[in-house]
Amino acid sequence: MTHLKDRANHTTKLYWQKPYDTQFSARVAEVWQDDEHVYAVLDSTLFYPEGGGQPSDRGIIQLPQGMRFCVDHVFEQDGRIVHVLSPDQVTAAGVLKPGQVVHGQIDWDRRFDFMQQHTGQHILSRAFELVCNASTVGFHLGDDYVSIDLGVESVDDNQITQTEDLANQMVFSNLPVESREYASGRLPDHIRRRIPAGSDLVRVVYVGDFDACACGGTHVKATGEIGIIKINRLDRAHGGVRVIFRCGKRALADLRMKEQILDRVARSLSVGYQDLPETVAALSEKASGLDKEVSRLKKELLEYEIREIARQAGSQDTGKAPDFGSPGWIAGGEDFAVCRCEGKLPQELRYMARSVSELTGKTVIMFSQAPQFSLVVASASAQPGKGKKGKDIPPRQNAALLVSELGQIWGLRGGGAPQLAQMGAKEPLSLTGQRILDDIRGIMSKLGT
Ligand SMILES: [Zn+2]
Repeated sequence: MTHLKDRANHTTKLYWQKPYDTQFSARVAEVWQDDEHVYAVLDSTLFYPEGGGQPSDRGIIQLPQGMRFCVDHVFEQDGRIVHVLSPDQVTAAGVLKPGQVVHGQIDWDRRFDFMQQHTGQHILSRAFELVCNASTVGFHLGDDYVSIDLGVESVDDNQITQTEDLANQMVFSNLPVESREYASGRLPDHIRRRIPAGSDLVRVVYVGDFDACACGGTHVKATGEIGIIKINRLDRAHGGVRVIFRCGKRALADLRMKEQILDRVARSLSVGYQDLPETVAALSEKASGLDKEVSRLKKELLEYEIREIARQAGSQDTGKAPDFGSPGWIAGGEDFAVCRCEGKLPQELRYMARSVSELTGKTVIMFSQAPQFSLVVASASAQPGKGKKGKDIPPRQNAALLVSELGQIWGLRGGGAPQLAQMGAKEPLSLTGQRILDDIRGIMSKLGT
């Protein structure tokens, strides 16, 4: 868009002259397009271009014969204000021509919301200066919330309350908001905010005699129209403090939503919302106590299961076939036991296998199929009092060797020490219980007696 610089005409800023007007007529000065958009410059406009932290206006531009163009975005470049028309208007680009008179209409709800937020920001920034000696170093007006960044490391709760009170006192006082333009060399003293270098004419916005700030945005004409300024939250940002706040209708919508949430939670707990902090604290304490009780009971249940498995494994009749259809079965021989034990975490399986081995004096092979195959081998030689090191453990009791042999048959990889080893897969093993038992017995026979 470098060709813009060739033109000397500046767009007349109707949004400064008549900030409460919603419709206007203007003449098209320039039209061009690229692959995505059509761009139009008018000789005057009510559309505020994005700048100074305030987003641009939106709305429509209409030709006398009725054709409408949606204005999606507006920006200023070299004194001209460029209206970006939405992509689906591109085909109509040839219709809009320089010299034509068009009718424009801005989205007033959006604009008035920005005027409330922006004027509120002027007041809040000044209030932070007076209460906390904190100057505003950044400003953002988003679709949901507004934020200013303060050039101080911290502000406390008391300062926030004082600042919010002072700002709202200025709202309730319904101070006039006016703007005046000055040549940059003739600015009065005490203007908040730096003046950009090279500005020949500077617009200063006055909020009564409370604040004076160089600004090119749009503002309400009296502070009462802001309604309320509500600080919502503080964040850390760029080594300073980011203040999230909402004004006017936004603040009302936010408070309404919060009240609905509070009401819903309070109803679900059958208390008044004032009693929520104590009620939630009591519930949290109760939940924590229950968690501890559940852990204790789970541990107790695990110990019970271990004793029961050990009782059966210890007296296992090697000739009797277990019920392979059940989620838990025990089989084995004189010096080893095979247990299917579902619904356990890997660390629980390890603990159980070691404990059962200790209680029975047998090498224990324990596995579960769901949600994925997991197998643990605890060697009988690993038990206290046996006094055997890894190299002294016979092959038949060597957990790592057993896992390695089984892995070769089943195509799985495992690992561990001669005393304790394990193996797993991402899915259940597609083998019957009988087959798993037969494979283990086969390995045991191969490794000797
Ligand atoms: Zn402003």
